[in-house]
Amino acid sequence: MKIGLFGGTFDPIHCGHLRSAEEVREAFRLDRIIFIPTSIQPLKQDSASAGADRLKMARLATADNRAFGVSDIEVRRPGKSFTIDTLRAFAARRPKAELFFIIGMDAFREIGRWKDFQELFALANFIVTSRPGSRATMSRGVIPIAARKAFWYDRARDSFRHESGTRIYFLKLTDIAISASEIRERVKRGKSVRYLVPAKVERYIGRRGLYRASRRSAAL
Ligand code: ATP
Repeated sequence: MKIGLFGGTFDPIHCGHLRSAEEVREAFRLDRIIFIPTSIQPLKQDSASAGADRLKMARLATADNRAFGVSDIEVRRPGKSFTIDTLRAFAARRPKAELFFIIGMDAFREIGRWKDFQELFALANFIVTSRPGSRATMSRGVIPIAARKAFWYDRARDSFRHESGTRIYFLKLTDIAISASEIRERVKRGKSVRYLVPAKVERYIGRRGLYRASRRSAAL
């Protein structure tokens, strides 16, 4: 069983996230992709909407895809969301599964600041994905210096192999320049977000009045 774990704030989940997951699933022949909305992200500002709303929107957005699922593990866990805790939990729960942590290049570039980041690489493979606007592709230089010596480049499989046997892969995605912050901004200004998010998510945002007077926008 090959399982993709896709972490993010998902505030809200949008078509860029969904298409990324679909392309990753297909390219790596994953059996399942689990979206994991974070609770409190240590390196980001507070989310504009509650964990329960972000979880619900992720569930609505993925309900029609049998390969997609949503985990509430981070939203339920008190305090900050550290990926290391999540990966340890999945590794313990699914000892036979091969785990693939999916992460955009923008986020991967910061991974050297994550808690116990060296151990992350031993717990899961990484699939680093492109993001429109960020031209960087995978290279040795993107791996945090402190972890670099644990990797060697495997030309045959175009990936970086970790001493533990896991790999870091890079996947160039179709460029879909949608961001959650742009969606929140559009909702705040009363503009349409149709086709940027699935219809069910659009309706949920409207019904719950999300992003109209978020804490973050109130502070601006
Ligand atoms: P925000 O605008 O609030 O920062 P976001 O749109 O970047 O949010 P996140 O929930 O932070 O969404 O993203 C989760 C993951 O999805 C990150 O690894 C990010 O790189 C990736 N991602 C987000 N949007 C896209 C997109 N349009 N194309 C490809 N990857 C994306």
